[in-house]
Amino acid sequence: MSDGTGTVVRIDGALVRRWVRLSADQISANRDYLTQLDAAIGDADHGVNMDRGFAAAMTDLAAGVDLVPGEVFAHLGSTLIYRVGGAAGPLYGTMYRETGAALGGETAIDPEVFLTALRSGLEAIQRLGAAVEGDKTIVDAYLPALTALERELRAGNGFSSAAHRAAEAARDGARATIPMQARKGRASYLGARSVGHQDPGATSTALLFAALASAVDDRT
Ligand code: ADP
Ligand code: MG
Repeated sequence: MSDGTGTVVRIDGALVRRWVRLSADQISANRDYLTQLDAAIGDADHGVNMDRGFAAAMTDLAAGVDLVPGEVFAHLGSTLIYRVGGAAGPLYGTMYRETGAALGGETAIDPEVFLTALRSGLEAIQRLGAAVEGDKTIVDAYLPALTALERELRAGNGFSSAAHRAAEAARDGARATIPMQARKGRASYLGARSVGHQDPGATSTALLFAALASAVDDRT
């Protein structure tokens, strides 16, 4: 598969590890921002929770340099379940574990197969949290990201371009949560008072897809 610039892109363990590292960097750099967003419509812990989980994941993964992509996601998911807490820990953790399970022991993954695995991850989030689009949750960034990823891949534009469009769609999706009223999670207790604030979980999802775009470009 070509990425549109003639470069063959398959998703291997190194790329996935880079995604995790850049995700940890993004979460760390935006820890206070995510916590501020959660202070407005939650309990002011989302940034702290996510940063604790991704920092722990980086420590755990430091030993496993030979892991295939499915194993990296399995480890990450388990670490997030045990270390993040709140609603986001089980949701993100299960998402990564399902993504990993869908990839199995493959060492070099075709972008279409990767997309299918990410879809399994999103389905796990929705199975666990029962949120649909418009509920002001992680789903509002994750779903448009995968829609954009699929559209770009089907258009033959390659994985790098697809990852960038996915990151933009996730960011737009997170922004689009501002006028929504929360129907799931802690923010839903606020009812109409949740309107006018960007959802913390949709925002962290946008950071994760920004990290994916960076991971694809950064071949170091
Ligand atoms: P808690 O609300 O338990 O403190 P966090 O602050 O870590 O957990 O995460 C809050 C985020 O979790 C919300 O901004 C929202 O995006 C996400 N979330 C909450 N409930 C759900 C759900 N049922 N489905 C999807 N995402 C959810
Ligand atoms: Mg919270």
